[in-house]
Amino acid sequence: MAAHDVMPDVELFQPLTVEDAVALAERLGGNGWILAGGQDTYGWLKDRAKQPTTMVDLGSIESLQGIEETRSGIRIGAMTTLRDLSRHPTIRDHYALLAEAADQVASPQIRNQGTIGGNVAQDTRCWYYRRGLACYRAGGNICYADTPDGMNREHAIFGASRCVAVSPSDTATALVALDATMVIQSSNGTRSIPAERFFVSPAVNITHMTVLRDGDILTHIELPDTWAGADFYFEKVADRNVWDFALVSIAGAMRIEGGTIRQARFVCGAVECVPRRLIEVERAVIGKPRNEATANSVAALASRDAQPLNYNQFKAPLMENLVKRALRA
Ligand SMILES: Cc1cc2nc3c(=O)[nH]c(=O)nc-3n(C[C@H](O)[C@H](O)[C@H](O)COP(=O)(O)OP(=O)(O)OC[C@H]3O[C@@H](n4cnc5c(N)ncnc54)[C@H](O)[C@@H]3O)c2cc1C
Ligand code: SF4
Repeated sequence: MAAHDVMPDVELFQPLTVEDAVALAERLGGNGWILAGGQDTYGWLKDRAKQPTTMVDLGSIESLQGIEETRSGIRIGAMTTLRDLSRHPTIRDHYALLAEAADQVASPQIRNQGTIGGNVAQDTRCWYYRRGLACYRAGGNICYADTPDGMNREHAIFGASRCVAVSPSDTATALVALDATMVIQSSNGTRSIPAERFFVSPAVNITHMTVLRDGDILTHIELPDTWAGADFYFEKVADRNVWDFALVSIAGAMRIEGGTIRQARFVCGAVECVPRRLIEVERAVIGKPRNEATANSVAALASRDAQPLNYNQFKAPLMENLVKRALRA
């Protein structure tokens, strides 16, 4: 499919309240498209790989903006830009894991424009799908990436079910590690979903990366104070340091008391269609010191049961090395 230099014509709505946005999104159904910062959206439109006729721009809704401290943690409006998130003093001081993850997205220009809501709701970057081919995820009956000659270096080594695409969101791993809650509004009311269940595997729904459906608007994200001020580690390995998606990333959070790890979360990105919690590693480190010996003793658990494709076998040892790096004091 050829790329175009200009955007197609779309009808644009700019509601001022979430209620109006929800009503519009509900009425437009599959013909409507929620627009946040546009950094994922505009690529789809310019390539004509998706062709919505109408957009609901959330940019004028004040209640979706900004970061607030609450009695039990932090509330982050879905339209908060990645730049504002990564520079917010409370996020930097108490939830540095999320600040760092947001700061690793793409480039300064994209972080100025891209929002946290758009970052978690963005679609996969599988080459074939983005070019508009009729693969399983696009409603067809083949996976082009999972063939003997398929380009699958960036794809999943866990949890594939016909589709082997991965979640591209850098902030998703940090949000799962921090036990965040995603708050969604629709015409049926408001529902709160743990970040770990917000992202969905192809076995659950092959055409959606998240639980969001037509008519849903992610209004904000809540961070509980459970992990505030913990020991954190974030690292993203990519081919380039800017403008590039993770080949593998890790978000780690640890509570260390009396020299030993009391609580731990480790979540890898870009190895599965959803952020992958390393539950065996989390269990294995409890009661151990955060040092080289612990790192070496648990790293292999990270990639247990991996099922690499032809060109992404490097991801399993990379996961193990990232776990080791996260655990070295
Ligand atoms: C060159 C390039 C490099 C990139 N590199 C990275 C990277 O390294 N890491 C990374 O994580 N991402 C990357 N991205 C992806 C993405 O553009 C950004 O992560 C950005 O944060 C997306 O946010 P947005 O507000 O621009 O989303 P939009 O494009 O406006 O929206 C993205 C999707 O989310 C939906 N959506 C947005 N907000 C809501 C809401 N509140 N409720 C319901 N649905 C909503 C939209 O309908 C759309 O489907 C890159 C993009 C580009 C173009
Ligand atoms: S990995 Fe998924 S998105 Fe990519 S070609 Fe296969 S089915 Fe399509």
